[in-house]
Amino acid sequence: MDLGLTGKRALVCASSKGLGKGCAMALGEAGVDLVLNARGSAALEATAEEIRGLYGVSVTTVVTDVTTPDGQAALIEAAGNPDILVNNAGGPPPGLWPDWTRDDFIKALDANMLAPIALMTALMPGMMERGWGRVVNITSMSVRAPVAVLGLSGAARTGLTGYVAGTARQVAGSGVTINNLLPGLHATDRAVSLDQAAAEAGGVSIAEAQAQRQATIPAGRYGTIEEFGAACAFLCSKQAGFIIGQNLLLDGGAVNLTM
Ligand code: NAP
Repeated sequence: MDLGLTGKRALVCASSKGLGKGCAMALGEAGVDLVLNARGSAALEATAEEIRGLYGVSVTTVVTDVTTPDGQAALIEAAGNPDILVNNAGGPPPGLWPDWTRDDFIKALDANMLAPIALMTALMPGMMERGWGRVVNITSMSVRAPVAVLGLSGAARTGLTGYVAGTARQVAGSGVTINNLLPGLHATDRAVSLDQAAAEAGGVSIAEAQAQRQATIPAGRYGTIEEFGAACAFLCSKQAGFIIGQNLLLDGGAVNLTM
């Protein structure tokens, strides 16, 4: 399927590895010129080179922390007038509710709610003026179903989801869509660190913790970054213009819901 994205320009935040990289790869394959970001430069440059080599698109890198105002300003400047914005950042650490402090919540809100809102606020007016734009926010299945140890993540991302629900309907008439992708368990570094935390909490090996976590997924495995990226590219496509303010679970069936 021709996604109609050749020559478009995208800012993909937190994209040197994992789900952000999956989105960048799929958009690159669709002919989108990219601005990629991470805090560390080695993996970022390697990913940029990989995408240039595979798809021949232009890839600019910005080494910065997307959760800070300075980082957001650097990304907005580098992005120019992007047609596509993919919001992503690292997730808060797992923990337990009695231990979470105000500072922990502020960090989670900065990373997983206020950073994407700042970038949407800065970049959507240009998309609206040009009459076309796509925003995809990477959130989490914890928005649909609580994951107790990820309460910081759930709290911040649910706030973002509420913002998107209203805002998506205000910008839709200008040709701009905002949708959220809700990952369940995917095979990334983040999944490995959560396997490790589950192993420590349960007093089992990492392999056992991973097997236990995979057994909670009807598909019987973790998702791949390629599957995730393909869904992102479709939400950015010309064909997806009537999909507004939706929350798409990519979880192998893990969340037990009828709708
Ligand atoms: P990952 O494999 O750890 O990759 C995270 C990527 O984001 C890396 O490129 C990292 O590079 C970059 N990054 C992290 N913090 C950043 C920051 N403050 N500023 C700029 N770049 C940053 O993580 P992932 O599994 O892809 O997860 C992505 C998001 O999805 C996270 O919010 C995670 O909580 C959420 N999620 C993941 C899963 C899963 O199973 N994987 C499930 C539900 C939700 P640097 O470290 O160099 O900055």
